[in-house]
Parts: sequence; C-alpha cells; structure tokens
Amino acid sequence: MRKKIVAGNWKMNKNLQDGVELAKTVNRQVEDNNVIVILCTPFIHLSEVSNVITKDNLFLGAQNCASEASGAFTGEVSVDMIGSTGAEYVIIGHSERRSYYNEDDATLNKKVKLALSADLTPIFCCGEVLAEREAGKHMKVVKDQIDKGLFDLSPDNFSKVVIAYEPVWAIGTGVTATSGQAQEMHKAIREMIAEKYGNQVAEGISILYGGSCKPSNAAELFANPDVDGGLIGGASLSAADFMGIVNAF
Ligand code: PEP
Repeated sequence: MRKKIVAGNWKMNKNLQDGVELAKTVNRQVEDNNVIVILCTPFIHLSEVSNVITKDNLFLGAQNCASEASGAFTGEVSVDMIGSTGAEYVIIGHSERRSYYNEDDATLNKKVKLALSADLTPIFCCGEVLAEREAGKHMKVVKDQIDKGLFDLSPDNFSKVVIAYEPVWAIGTGVTATSGQAQEMHKAIREMIAEKYGNQVAEGISILYGGSCKPSNAAELFANPDVDGGLIGGASLSAADFMGIVNAF
C-alpha cells in the first residue's frame, strides 16, 4: 500500500507566532490514522514548529533548499540545515520557484540529490501552464520535467521521492483540475515510472494532486486510484480547511 499524504505549503505566509499557533491546532486535530500529514513552513518556522509536533503521523517540511551543500551562498538554506531542525521533507520545483526564480531542470535535479543525501524526502512538483494544456502539450511537459528532474536517480533513491502534480493554471486560482484530468495525468506519470523503474517501484510512489484543493473537492480527487493525496496551498493556512482536506481520506 502506498502512502496517503496531505502536505500543506504555507508559502510566504504567517509570522512565527501565527505559524506556531496554526501548527499547534493542526497537531491537536490530527487523528492517529494512516494519513501522513506534512506542514511545509517557511524556513524560520521549522525549528519551533518541530517542537510543537507530537503526533506520529504529523511531519515537518521545508518549501525549498539550496542547490549547493554549504559555503559562501548568502541567504541560502542547505539541506543539512533543514534536516537539523527536525524537518523530514522538502518541496522541490514548485511552479513558483520554477517561474519566479528561474529554477531549471538541472538545478532541481541537483536539489533532489542533495535532499536525498541528507535523508530528506523530496516532494517533487511538476505541472503545465494553461497555454501548454490548451495546446495539448501537457503530458509532454510533465513527462519532461519528471524525466529531467528525477530519472537519473537509482531505483532505490527514486523510490524515496514523492511527486506532486500541480497544473499551474489551478494553483491559487480557484479553478481545480477535474477529477478526470487529475487521474489521467497521475496514471500517465505512474505508467512512465513503470516503464523506467518497473511496476513495483511505480506502485509504491505517492503522487499528490495540487491546485485549488479544498474540503469540498478533496474527497472526489482523492477517490481516484492514482491520486494518493494532495499538496495544499491556500487551504493549508486555515486549520479548519486543512483538516477538512485531511479528513477527506
Ligand atoms: C500550491 O501552491 O502548491 C497549491 C496547490 O496552491 P493552492 O492550493 O492555493 O492552489
């Protein structure tokens, strides 16, 4: 059975005090079951939020990491630093990083390898923009991102990665992919993994959906056979909405 995961990406929201309060509420409300819940907070929150977490199925993650291991890279945060806070996950290749900070496939591939070397689980994001979907290129775009970002990993390392399919046109827009669109892409991703790494690896990889996921649409999205959970932006900023999504499982 592959892991069911709901990860919240707080992005650049919540000051430290508000973030700790939100984490405390989520920690109180997370039920002891088989859904893995992850809070991906800003860097400065990691250490304090780590101290708040008491539930076995609640984990901490960062939203990005440096593409170098250490040294003279002013303002950057390394995978080792992230791990030292108690975080176990890191989002890599979010569309906002790809587009606003020009992170290309080669850089993301480096970050994935650094994360794995520090025993962090990468949550690797992929997804097409609207023009690419309208031009019928969405499958190719997503497959290229996965190919270039992940497919030189060993089977053992690849098996540790979580993938998040996030159509860019659905992120923060209120427009959610239909259940059919999500399942179609997740199935295609799993098939390409099976072709490269074999069925056993493909069946074990959790593929999350992200893009305007809410308590009202989560259950339908998560009911798809190849959708193993969600990466949640806006709705992760409210404990009620976030837990509504977690409980949709
Ligand atoms: C995200 O940015 O990862 C995301 C899914 O955002 P939202 O849920 O707000 O669309």
